[in-house]
Amino acid sequence: MSENLEIPRANSIYKKSTEERKLSFLERIYLPEIFRGLWFTLKQMFQPKFTMQYPETRFDPPPIFRGRPVLVEDNGQERCVACGLCARACPPLAISMQASENSDDPKERYPTFFEINMLRCIYCGYCEEVCPEEAIVMSKDYDLVFSEREEAVYDKTKLLVRKEELKERLDYLREYKNRQFGSFWNFDEENNIHSVRNRDKRWETSLSLVEMIEQQRKEAK
Ligand code: SF4
Ligand code: SF4
Repeated sequence: MSENLEIPRANSIYKKSTEERKLSFLERIYLPEIFRGLWFTLKQMFQPKFTMQYPETRFDPPPIFRGRPVLVEDNGQERCVACGLCARACPPLAISMQASENSDDPKERYPTFFEINMLRCIYCGYCEEVCPEEAIVMSKDYDLVFSEREEAVYDKTKLLVRKEELKERLDYLREYKNRQFGSFWNFDEENNIHSVRNRDKRWETSLSLVEMIEQQRKEAK
């Protein structure tokens, strides 16, 4: 008895395989489809190009871009007060630090070491979101190269970037945060409360932070 090749035997899952569309002669030889594909490729060669000759040509990302997180250096000193919020918010636990105090400095607290493991960082930007000091922000750096795992742990020497170089991102954050919370709290630079003592000295007020916010609310009404 001759074998009926129209009825597949191996594919028992698809019961209706006998109802599959029959291919025409041209479809079975594939040539028209191959030429259609080549024609499509040829047409794309004359379309506008969006690729760059990296690294000769470098991409300058817009301020909304989230590159590697960096610490803001303000007048030769890190803004960070080592509160630990960024480390707490970081989903892959990429941040570690040790806080210390200097009573001679108006900022009072600073990190003796601050490290970000860039092999863990997922560029989520949560550290930037939670930082009360605008001390850690997402930069434009996107090409990180390491030859050893230890090199991927960035310490303060690699993390600190002058605030002038981060102006675009800081301006963007000011606008972005104000859009979200502006009616409640004006995210201007002077609102970065580097220390309660410093704030009191500057604004000559003995109000607590909560009382200050209440006062701002009343003034806004
Ligand atoms: S960007 Fe996200 S993953 Fe990277 S250090 Fe900040 S919180 Fe952690
Ligand atoms: S949240 Fe900001 S101030 Fe607090 S430890 Fe992180 S970088 Fe420093």
